[in-house]
Amino acid sequence: MQRETLAQPNGYRVSRRRFVRIASVASAVALARITTEADLAFAQRRIARDIPADAILINANENPLGPCIQACSAMSALGVKGGRYEFGLTQELVKTFAEIEGLKPEYVRAYAGSSEPLHYAVLAYTSPEKSLVMGDPAYEAPMRAASYSKARVFKVPLAKNYAHDVKAMVGADPNAGLLYICNPNNPTGTTTTREEIEYALVNKPKGSILLIDEAYIHFSDAKPVLDLADADKEVVVLRTFSKIYGMAGLRCGFAIARPDLLARLEPYGWNSMPVTAVVAATASLKHKGLVLERQKINADIRNDVFSWLATNKYSFVPSESNCFMVDVKRPGKQFIEAMEAKKVYIGRVWPAWPTHVRVTVGTGPEMEVFKKAFKEAMETPALAVQGPPKSAESWRTDRPYASLS
Ligand code: PLP
Repeated sequence: MQRETLAQPNGYRVSRRRFVRIASVASAVALARITTEADLAFAQRRIARDIPADAILINANENPLGPCIQACSAMSALGVKGGRYEFGLTQELVKTFAEIEGLKPEYVRAYAGSSEPLHYAVLAYTSPEKSLVMGDPAYEAPMRAASYSKARVFKVPLAKNYAHDVKAMVGADPNAGLLYICNPNNPTGTTTTREEIEYALVNKPKGSILLIDEAYIHFSDAKPVLDLADADKEVVVLRTFSKIYGMAGLRCGFAIARPDLLARLEPYGWNSMPVTAVVAATASLKHKGLVLERQKINADIRNDVFSWLATNKYSFVPSESNCFMVDVKRPGKQFIEAMEAKKVYIGRVWPAWPTHVRVTVGTGPEMEVFKKAFKEAMETPALAVQGPPKSAESWRTDRPYASLS
């Protein structure tokens, strides 16, 4: 008997039986807002409007270089075809990525940015009974998604070397549903070794999955773990074109995992891809020298800022990414406002580290403006410093995460 299949927005087909199952899960899911870096960066601004045209924007971990020339040409050449969904282009993107990375194409799924699969993975794998375990400080989006699945959130402080403390993470809750590891981490830009990730994989609570967010992997020497997904492990890996490829506004990303793990994300959302992003992403992947070239540009500027900070005896966390944390020895929010008054928009503060602020690596000239403004703001007398970070045990919480400060 022939199995009836239904077309999906990305050009895939699913069986009628699976479609009915997806539809029934979807009808039980409350509508949930997807948190993005853009939302978080926007929310922390004191005056959320009227950014001066000459402001320095190093607040949202964007790439000031934008898309490469090849990506821009691909988008303009596509213009005339923009009236069609062009599903085949998404399949070509997936195939290109799979070939480059040595993956099976059915293990790769394209989304309009990695925020979507991140959010859907948390909804799919956490619940009031199945918690989310993550680092602290770490990217807040999973925690926000968990407020919709009503999952408990275990925030585990980073280890002394600022890697994820995988031993503490796997032991945080025997009923964990998802362990989130961002590598390199946002906001610290620090890395977790492949051995540590493999330890987490072997020792994680039964039935849970690892969500490995490799949004910033190309900036660092951290070892990617795409092969673990391809080897059928209980791992979902996320990639985005928003960072090294400079396509944050264009929106393209991937979830990479065993097809049955990816299928669990489907009920929460799956749309056709913006064709401009798809052709730009494909062109970027095909540009062979791009990643190394941009990795070097970022590292040179970042290291120059680090030597300047060190020479001036400012303390910062050594990062391997396009952002870093610097200790301003006063309430971070106050400092952000002082910088904003100088038209330099830096990133936000994490409650666990109230005197640190996140700074994105901009262009060389932008970072010169940053240095000047930073020094002036540091020389302004600080108001009272808040208390020390909470004790090591304070991340154990019995309540679902409710709100962000
Ligand atoms: N993951 C991390 C750690 C991020 O910092 C971001 C954005 O800044 C994302 C995922 C999502 O990026 P996008 O949705 O732009 O692909």
